[in-house]
Amino acid sequence: MQISVQIAVQTEFDEQPNITEIARFERDGFDAGSLGLHLEEAKALPGRLQRSMIEAQAAEAIARMSVCLECGSRLTDKGHHRLADRSVFGRLSIESPRLYQCRCSGSGRKSVCPLAACLRERTSRRLSRW
Ligand SMILES: [Zn+2]
Repeated sequence: MQISVQIAVQTEFDEQPNITEIARFERDGFDAGSLGLHLEEAKALPGRLQRSMIEAQAAEAIARMSVCLECGSRLTDKGHHRLADRSVFGRLSIESPRLYQCRCSGSGRKSVCPLAACLRERTSRRLSRW
């Protein structure tokens, strides 16, 4: 028997949910050694779920922030880098675009990194609670 653990992510931009398999288990028979999750499988599952959730959230945020709020134009891609963030499941690296600001803003060729800005805001909010 094959058992697949999948997450279904549906953003405001998708017509259909995006299904991602985060784990697959194979079991034969019905005995004490094959019932349910093994300890190593159970330990790995939350980290895979965390990675898939964050990747989906980052993809949605990038899609939303890649469009000028003023005129609706698609922002031009200047390049990519990786952001690292810590969670209770360990370090995570996220592919993050750098985007040129829209010409309608009159800011010349300045660029922004929307995901980095969001994570800085989150960190600032956390710190302000202390
Ligand atoms: Zn614009």
